[in-house]
Amino acid sequence: MSTQSIVLSGATKQFAGGASPAVWDVSFDVEPGEIVALLGPSGCGKTTTLRLIAGFERLDAGSVSINGRVMDDGRGYVPPEKRSVGMVFQDFALFPHLTVAGNIGFGLIRSSKREREERVRELAELAGLTEFLDRYPHQLSGGQQQRVALARALAPKPDVLLLDEPFSNLDTELRVQMRTEVRELLKAVGTTAVLVTHDQQEAMTVADRMAVMLGGRVEQIDTPDVVYHYPATRAVASFVGLGTFVPARIAGAVASSDVGQFTIDGPPGPDNVDLLLRPRDVTLTVDPEGIAVVQSRIFHGAEFTYRVQLPCGVTLQSNQPSHIDISPGTRVSVRCARVRLAAYDADARVALTTAAGFPTAFGGELTSSVVGVTATS
Ligand code: ADP
Ligand code: MG
Repeated sequence: MSTQSIVLSGATKQFAGGASPAVWDVSFDVEPGEIVALLGPSGCGKTTTLRLIAGFERLDAGSVSINGRVMDDGRGYVPPEKRSVGMVFQDFALFPHLTVAGNIGFGLIRSSKREREERVRELAELAGLTEFLDRYPHQLSGGQQQRVALARALAPKPDVLLLDEPFSNLDTELRVQMRTEVRELLKAVGTTAVLVTHDQQEAMTVADRMAVMLGGRVEQIDTPDVVYHYPATRAVASFVGLGTFVPARIAGAVASSDVGQFTIDGPPGPDNVDLLLRPRDVTLTVDPEGIAVVQSRIFHGAEFTYRVQLPCGVTLQSNQPSHIDISPGTRVSVRCARVRLAAYDADARVALTTAAGFPTAFGGELTSSVVGVTATS
Protein backbone atom coordinates (compact mmCIF):
# COMPACT_ATOMS: atom_id res chain seq x y z
CA MET A 1 0.00 0.00 0.00
CA SER A 2 1.14 3.50 -0.80
CA THR A 3 2.25 5.70 2.07
CA GLN A 4 1.08 8.77 0.17
CA SER A 5 -2.34 10.32 0.71
CA ILE A 6 -2.78 11.42 -2.88
CA VAL A 7 -0.94 10.08 -5.91
CA LEU A 8 -1.46 11.54 -9.37
CA SER A 9 0.34 9.64 -12.07
CA GLY A 10 0.34 10.90 -15.65
CA ALA A 11 -3.05 12.51 -15.05
CA THR A 12 -4.42 13.88 -18.32
CA LYS A 13 -7.75 15.53 -19.13
CA GLN A 14 -8.71 16.69 -22.59
CA PHE A 15 -12.02 18.55 -22.88
CA ALA A 16 -13.93 18.21 -26.13
CA GLY A 17 -12.99 21.14 -28.34
CA GLY A 18 -9.88 22.06 -26.32
CA ALA A 19 -6.80 22.65 -28.49
CA SER A 20 -4.55 20.90 -25.96
CA PRO A 21 -5.28 18.95 -22.78
CA ALA A 22 -6.43 21.12 -19.85
CA VAL A 23 -4.30 18.84 -17.61
CA TRP A 24 -1.40 17.13 -19.29
CA ASP A 25 0.65 14.27 -17.87
CA VAL A 26 0.54 15.61 -14.32
CA SER A 27 2.26 13.52 -11.64
CA PHE A 28 2.75 14.38 -8.00
CA ASP A 29 2.27 12.91 -4.54
CA VAL A 30 0.87 14.48 -1.41
CA GLU A 31 2.04 13.07 1.90
CA PRO A 32 -0.32 12.47 4.82
CA GLY A 33 -0.91 15.76 6.64
CA GLU A 34 0.84 17.76 3.96
CA ILE A 35 -0.55 20.94 2.37
CA VAL A 36 0.30 21.25 -1.32
CA ALA A 37 -0.59 24.39 -3.29
CA LEU A 38 -1.32 24.27 -7.00
CA LEU A 39 -0.12 27.66 -8.21
CA GLY A 40 -0.54 29.00 -11.71
CA PRO A 41 -2.17 31.65 -13.87
CA SER A 42 -5.86 31.55 -14.76
CA GLY A 43 -6.71 28.75 -17.19
CA CYS A 44 -3.60 26.63 -16.50
CA GLY A 45 -5.63 23.65 -15.28
CA LYS A 46 -5.65 24.03 -11.49
CA THR A 47 -9.39 23.60 -10.96
CA THR A 48 -9.50 20.71 -13.41
CA THR A 49 -6.71 18.95 -11.47
CA LEU A 50 -8.68 19.44 -8.25
CA ARG A 51 -11.85 18.12 -9.89
CA LEU A 52 -9.94 15.06 -11.11
CA ILE A 53 -8.84 14.37 -7.53
CA ALA A 54 -12.39 14.89 -6.25
CA GLY A 55 -13.89 12.75 -9.01
CA PHE A 56 -16.04 15.44 -10.64
CA GLU A 57 -14.09 14.82 -13.84
CA ARG A 58 -12.94 11.53 -15.37
CA LEU A 59 -9.35 11.02 -16.49
CA ASP A 60 -8.45 10.47 -20.14
CA ALA A 61 -5.10 8.96 -19.17
CA GLY A 62 -3.12 8.26 -16.01
CA SER A 63 -4.45 7.55 -12.54
CA VAL A 64 -5.53 9.12 -9.26
CA SER A 65 -5.18 7.25 -5.96
CA ILE A 66 -6.22 8.35 -2.49
CA ASN A 67 -4.83 6.57 0.56
CA GLY A 68 -3.55 3.70 -1.54
CA ARG A 69 -6.88 3.11 -3.30
CA VAL A 70 -7.14 3.68 -7.04
CA MET A 71 -9.96 6.19 -7.62
CA ASP A 72 -9.70 6.47 -11.39
CA ASP A 73 -7.35 4.79 -13.83
CA GLY A 74 -9.49 4.69 -16.96
CA ARG A 75 -10.97 1.32 -15.91
CA GLY A 76 -12.12 1.62 -12.31
CA TYR A 77 -13.82 4.82 -11.15
CA VAL A 78 -14.93 5.77 -7.65
CA PRO A 79 -17.59 8.54 -7.56
CA PRO A 80 -16.94 11.74 -5.55
CA GLU A 81 -19.23 10.85 -2.64
CA LYS A 82 -17.23 7.67 -2.01
CA ARG A 83 -13.78 9.32 -2.03
CA SER A 84 -13.77 10.84 1.48
CA VAL A 85 -12.87 14.21 0.04
CA GLY A 86 -13.93 17.57 1.50
CA MET A 87 -14.24 20.67 -0.65
CA VAL A 88 -14.00 24.38 0.10
CA PHE A 89 -15.03 26.70 -2.72
CA GLN A 90 -14.27 30.29 -3.56
CA ASP A 91 -17.79 31.51 -2.71
CA PHE A 92 -17.94 29.33 0.49
CA ALA A 93 -21.36 28.02 -0.69
CA LEU A 94 -22.86 28.11 2.81
CA PHE A 95 -26.53 27.17 3.25
CA PRO A 96 -28.25 30.51 3.97
CA HIS A 97 -31.22 28.92 5.77
CA LEU A 98 -29.03 26.98 8.20
CA THR A 99 -27.25 28.32 11.27
CA VAL A 100 -23.50 27.99 11.73
CA ALA A 101 -24.13 24.81 13.72
CA GLY A 102 -26.44 23.52 10.99
CA ASN A 103 -23.87 24.27 8.32
CA ILE A 104 -20.96 22.65 10.17
CA GLY A 105 -23.02 19.57 10.97
CA PHE A 106 -24.55 19.27 7.52
CA GLY A 107 -22.34 16.45 6.26
CA LEU A 108 -22.64 14.35 9.42
CA ILE A 109 -25.65 12.42 8.18
CA ARG A 110 -24.52 9.07 9.48
CA SER A 111 -23.82 10.29 13.02
CA SER A 112 -26.19 10.22 15.99
CA LYS A 113 -27.56 13.55 17.25
CA ARG A 114 -25.14 13.47 20.16
CA GLU A 115 -22.10 12.64 18.03
CA ARG A 116 -23.06 15.38 15.62
CA GLU A 117 -23.42 18.01 18.37
CA GLU A 118 -20.08 16.99 19.81
CA ARG A 119 -18.27 17.16 16.48
CA VAL A 120 -19.87 20.57 15.68
CA ARG A 121 -18.75 21.91 19.08
CA GLU A 122 -15.24 20.52 18.55
CA LEU A 123 -14.83 22.14 15.14
CA ALA A 124 -16.45 25.40 16.22
CA GLU A 125 -13.85 25.60 18.96
CA LEU A 126 -10.97 24.87 16.58
CA ALA A 127 -12.23 27.42 14.07
CA GLY A 128 -13.04 30.08 16.68
CA LEU A 129 -16.78 29.96 16.00
CA THR A 130 -18.18 28.85 19.35
CA GLU A 131 -19.99 32.13 20.04
CA PHE A 132 -21.57 32.21 16.57
CA LEU A 133 -23.16 28.76 16.44
CA ASP A 134 -26.73 30.15 16.38
CA ARG A 135 -26.08 32.82 13.76
CA TYR A 136 -26.98 32.61 10.09
CA PRO A 137 -24.38 33.11 7.32
CA HIS A 138 -25.60 36.64 6.48
CA GLN A 139 -24.89 37.65 10.09
CA LEU A 140 -21.19 36.73 9.74
CA SER A 141 -18.13 38.56 8.42
CA GLY A 142 -16.28 37.20 5.39
CA GLY A 143 -13.58 35.66 7.57
CA GLN A 144 -16.16 33.97 9.80
CA GLN A 145 -17.99 32.61 6.75
CA GLN A 146 -14.75 31.16 5.52
CA ARG A 147 -14.12 29.46 8.84
CA VAL A 148 -17.62 27.95 8.71
CA ALA A 149 -16.94 26.63 5.19
CA LEU A 150 -13.70 25.05 6.42
CA ALA A 151 -15.29 23.60 9.56
CA ARG A 152 -18.14 22.15 7.48
CA ALA A 153 -15.70 20.51 5.09
CA LEU A 154 -13.60 19.11 7.93
CA ALA A 155 -16.48 17.85 10.09
CA PRO A 156 -16.91 14.44 8.40
CA LYS A 157 -13.13 13.85 8.83
CA PRO A 158 -12.35 13.60 5.12
CA ASP A 159 -9.12 11.86 4.11
CA VAL A 160 -8.34 14.80 1.88
CA LEU A 161 -9.42 18.44 1.81
CA LEU A 162 -9.49 20.32 -1.49
CA LEU A 163 -9.66 24.12 -1.51
CA ASP A 164 -10.27 26.07 -4.72
CA GLU A 165 -9.19 29.73 -4.47
CA PRO A 166 -10.68 29.88 -0.96
CA PHE A 167 -9.41 33.38 -0.21
CA SER A 168 -10.42 35.27 -3.33
CA ASN A 169 -13.75 36.50 -1.92
CA LEU A 170 -12.06 38.22 1.02
CA ASP A 171 -10.64 41.73 1.06
CA THR A 172 -6.86 42.06 0.97
CA GLU A 173 -6.21 42.53 4.66
CA LEU A 174 -8.46 39.66 5.71
CA ARG A 175 -6.96 37.44 3.05
CA VAL A 176 -3.51 37.84 4.56
CA GLN A 177 -4.82 37.05 8.03
CA MET A 178 -6.87 34.05 6.88
CA ARG A 179 -3.86 32.44 5.19
CA THR A 180 -2.20 31.97 8.55
CA GLU A 181 -5.44 30.96 10.25
CA VAL A 182 -6.29 28.38 7.63
CA ARG A 183 -2.80 26.88 7.72
CA GLU A 184 -2.93 26.65 11.53
CA LEU A 185 -6.37 25.04 11.44
CA LEU A 186 -5.36 22.47 8.81
CA LYS A 187 -2.21 21.64 10.78
CA ALA A 188 -4.18 21.37 14.05
CA VAL A 189 -6.54 18.86 12.42
CA GLY A 190 -3.70 17.15 10.53
CA THR A 191 -5.61 17.08 7.25
CA THR A 192 -3.99 16.36 3.92
CA ALA A 193 -4.89 19.29 1.70
CA VAL A 194 -4.53 20.59 -1.83
CA LEU A 195 -5.03 24.33 -2.23
CA VAL A 196 -5.58 25.92 -5.62
CA THR A 197 -4.51 29.53 -6.02
CA HIS A 198 -3.19 32.01 -8.59
CA ASP A 199 -1.63 34.07 -5.77
CA GLN A 200 2.00 33.20 -5.11
CA GLN A 201 2.11 34.81 -1.66
CA GLU A 202 -0.85 32.67 -0.69
CA ALA A 203 0.79 29.51 -1.99
CA MET A 204 4.06 30.29 -0.23
CA THR A 205 2.55 31.12 3.16
CA VAL A 206 -0.05 28.34 3.34
CA ALA A 207 1.63 25.36 1.68
CA ASP A 208 4.38 22.95 2.68
CA ARG A 209 5.15 22.42 -1.00
CA MET A 210 3.91 24.16 -4.09
CA ALA A 211 3.36 22.81 -7.58
CA VAL A 212 3.72 25.44 -10.27
CA MET A 213 1.30 24.73 -13.13
CA LEU A 214 1.70 26.33 -16.53
CA GLY A 215 -0.28 25.33 -19.61
CA GLY A 216 -1.74 22.16 -18.08
CA ARG A 217 1.60 20.85 -16.84
CA VAL A 218 3.31 20.86 -13.46
CA GLU A 219 6.67 22.50 -14.14
CA GLN A 220 8.03 22.11 -10.63
CA ILE A 221 6.91 20.88 -7.24
CA ASP A 222 9.00 21.69 -4.22
CA THR A 223 9.14 23.71 -1.02
CA PRO A 224 8.33 27.41 -1.52
CA ASP A 225 11.91 28.51 -0.82
CA VAL A 226 13.36 26.12 -3.40
CA VAL A 227 10.78 27.14 -6.01
CA TYR A 228 11.53 30.81 -5.36
CA HIS A 229 15.32 30.67 -5.29
CA TYR A 230 15.98 27.70 -7.59
CA PRO A 231 13.12 27.61 -10.10
CA ALA A 232 13.39 24.58 -12.37
CA THR A 233 12.67 26.49 -15.57
CA ARG A 234 12.76 30.05 -16.83
CA ALA A 235 8.98 29.96 -17.08
CA VAL A 236 8.68 29.18 -13.36
CA ALA A 237 11.29 31.85 -12.55
CA SER A 238 9.26 34.44 -14.44
CA PHE A 239 5.91 33.42 -12.97
CA VAL A 240 7.07 33.23 -9.34
CA GLY A 241 8.52 36.47 -8.01
CA LEU A 242 10.56 39.14 -9.73
CA GLY A 243 14.08 38.65 -10.88
CA THR A 244 16.75 39.40 -13.43
CA PHE A 245 18.75 36.98 -15.54
CA VAL A 246 22.38 38.12 -15.62
CA PRO A 247 24.63 36.49 -18.25
CA ALA A 248 27.72 34.60 -17.10
CA ARG A 249 30.58 33.13 -19.10
CA ILE A 250 31.88 29.76 -18.02
CA ALA A 251 35.54 28.81 -18.14
CA GLY A 252 36.36 25.54 -16.44
CA ALA A 253 34.40 25.52 -13.20
CA VAL A 254 34.19 29.30 -12.92
CA ALA A 255 31.28 31.46 -14.02
CA SER A 256 32.14 35.16 -14.46
CA SER A 257 29.48 37.83 -14.51
CA ASP A 258 28.91 41.51 -13.78
CA VAL A 259 27.76 40.53 -10.30
CA GLY A 260 30.88 38.53 -9.47
CA GLN A 261 32.58 35.19 -9.91
CA PHE A 262 31.02 31.89 -8.97
CA THR A 263 32.04 28.27 -8.90
CA ILE A 264 29.83 25.96 -10.93
CA ASP A 265 28.55 23.06 -8.82
CA GLY A 266 28.06 19.84 -10.67
CA PRO A 267 29.07 18.69 -14.14
CA PRO A 268 30.09 21.28 -16.75
CA GLY A 269 27.25 22.62 -18.85
CA PRO A 270 27.07 25.16 -21.65
CA ASP A 271 29.68 27.91 -22.12
CA ASN A 272 27.16 30.61 -21.40
CA VAL A 273 24.45 30.62 -18.77
CA ASP A 274 22.18 33.18 -17.13
CA LEU A 275 22.20 33.57 -13.36
CA LEU A 276 18.88 34.33 -11.67
CA LEU A 277 19.06 37.21 -9.21
CA ARG A 278 16.06 38.08 -7.08
CA PRO A 279 15.70 41.77 -6.10
CA ARG A 280 17.00 41.11 -2.59
CA ASP A 281 19.97 39.04 -3.79
CA VAL A 282 22.17 42.02 -4.56
CA THR A 283 23.49 44.87 -2.49
CA LEU A 284 24.45 48.23 -3.91
CA THR A 285 27.25 50.42 -2.60
CA VAL A 286 28.00 53.95 -3.75
CA ASP A 287 31.36 53.64 -5.49
CA PRO A 288 32.86 56.09 -8.01
CA GLU A 289 34.83 53.12 -9.44
CA GLY A 290 31.72 50.89 -9.56
CA ILE A 291 30.71 49.11 -12.74
CA ALA A 292 26.99 49.89 -12.55
CA VAL A 293 24.82 53.00 -12.65
CA VAL A 294 21.51 53.57 -10.87
CA GLN A 295 18.83 54.32 -13.45
CA SER A 296 15.78 54.83 -11.28
CA ARG A 297 14.35 54.12 -7.86
CA ILE A 298 10.85 53.67 -6.50
CA PHE A 299 10.03 54.21 -2.82
CA HIS A 300 7.82 51.53 -1.18
CA GLY A 301 8.08 52.56 2.47
CA ALA A 302 10.34 49.90 3.92
CA GLU A 303 12.29 49.49 0.70
CA PHE A 304 13.47 51.15 -2.47
CA THR A 305 13.31 49.27 -5.73
CA TYR A 306 16.35 50.28 -7.78
CA ARG A 307 16.92 49.67 -11.46
CA VAL A 308 20.62 49.43 -12.12
CA GLN A 309 22.34 49.34 -15.50
CA LEU A 310 25.09 46.70 -15.76
CA PRO A 311 27.93 46.82 -18.34
CA CYS A 312 26.55 43.63 -19.95
CA GLY A 313 23.49 45.62 -20.96
CA VAL A 314 21.09 44.04 -18.46
CA THR A 315 19.02 46.22 -16.16
CA LEU A 316 19.14 44.63 -12.74
CA GLN A 317 16.37 45.10 -10.20
CA SER A 318 17.48 45.49 -6.60
CA ASN A 319 15.43 46.04 -3.45
CA GLN A 320 17.26 47.76 -0.63
CA PRO A 321 16.13 48.95 2.80
CA SER A 322 14.93 52.53 2.42
CA HIS A 323 17.47 53.93 4.88
CA ILE A 324 19.91 53.40 2.01
CA ASP A 325 19.04 56.16 -0.45
CA ILE A 326 21.01 56.36 -3.70
CA SER A 327 20.10 58.94 -6.34
CA PRO A 328 19.62 58.00 -9.98
CA GLY A 329 22.78 58.59 -11.97
CA THR A 330 25.03 57.43 -9.11
CA ARG A 331 27.76 54.93 -9.91
CA VAL A 332 27.58 51.84 -7.67
CA SER A 333 29.30 48.55 -7.13
CA VAL A 334 27.04 45.52 -7.13
CA ARG A 335 27.63 42.57 -4.85
CA CYS A 336 25.71 39.30 -4.80
CA ALA A 337 24.33 38.71 -1.31
CA ARG A 338 23.40 35.06 -1.88
CA VAL A 339 25.97 32.34 -1.70
CA ARG A 340 24.11 30.11 -4.15
CA LEU A 341 22.45 31.01 -7.41
CA ALA A 342 20.68 28.98 -10.04
CA ALA A 343 22.08 29.05 -13.60
CA TYR A 344 19.94 28.60 -16.74
CA ASP A 345 20.32 27.69 -20.38
CA ALA A 346 17.64 28.89 -22.81
CA ASP A 347 14.90 26.91 -20.99
CA ALA A 348 15.84 25.33 -17.72
CA ARG A 349 18.07 25.33 -14.69
CA VAL A 350 21.31 23.58 -15.64
CA ALA A 351 23.51 24.18 -12.62
CA LEU A 352 23.94 25.84 -9.29
CA THR A 353 26.74 28.24 -8.57
CA THR A 354 28.49 29.07 -5.34
CA ALA A 355 29.99 32.50 -4.69
CA ALA A 356 33.76 32.44 -5.14
CA GLY A 357 35.49 31.98 -1.80
CA PHE A 358 32.81 29.74 -0.30
CA PRO A 359 33.28 25.97 -0.19
CA THR A 360 31.02 24.38 -2.80
CA ALA A 361 29.39 22.23 -0.14
CA PHE A 362 28.06 25.40 1.50
CA GLY A 363 24.32 25.93 1.53
CA GLY A 364 23.00 23.02 3.56
CA GLU A 365 19.44 24.30 3.20
CA LEU A 366 19.10 22.71 -0.22
CA THR A 367 17.02 19.61 -0.72
CA SER A 368 18.08 16.70 -2.87
CA SER A 369 15.66 17.87 -5.55
CA VAL A 370 18.03 20.72 -6.34
CA VAL A 371 21.47 19.41 -5.53
CA GLY A 372 22.98 17.38 -8.33
CA VAL A 373 20.40 18.46 -10.86
CA THR A 374 21.88 19.23 -14.26
CA ALA A 375 18.78 19.68 -16.35
CA THR A 376 15.09 19.31 -15.74
CA SER A 377 13.84 18.88 -19.26
P1 ADP B 1 -7.72 27.24 -13.71
O1 ADP B 1 -8.50 26.70 -12.56
O2 ADP B 1 -6.25 27.06 -13.58
O3 ADP B 1 -8.06 28.67 -14.01
P2 ADP B 1 -9.25 25.36 -15.29
O4 ADP B 1 -8.81 24.03 -14.78
O5 ADP B 1 -10.56 25.86 -14.81
O6 ADP B 1 -8.11 26.43 -15.04
O7 ADP B 1 -9.30 25.30 -16.89
C1 ADP B 1 -8.23 24.82 -17.66
C2 ADP B 1 -8.62 24.86 -19.13
O8 ADP B 1 -9.66 23.93 -19.38
C3 ADP B 1 -9.15 26.20 -19.59
O9 ADP B 1 -8.70 26.42 -20.89
C4 ADP B 1 -10.65 26.01 -19.54
O10 ADP B 1 -11.29 26.86 -20.47
C5 ADP B 1 -10.80 24.56 -19.91
N1 ADP B 1 -11.99 23.95 -19.29
C6 ADP B 1 -12.26 23.85 -17.98
N2 ADP B 1 -13.40 23.19 -17.75
C7 ADP B 1 -13.90 22.88 -18.97
C8 ADP B 1 -15.08 22.20 -19.43
N3 ADP B 1 -15.98 21.68 -18.56
N4 ADP B 1 -15.25 22.06 -20.75
C9 ADP B 1 -14.36 22.55 -21.64
N5 ADP B 1 -13.24 23.20 -21.27
C10 ADP B 1 -12.99 23.37 -19.96
MG1 MG C 1 -9.85 27.68 -11.27
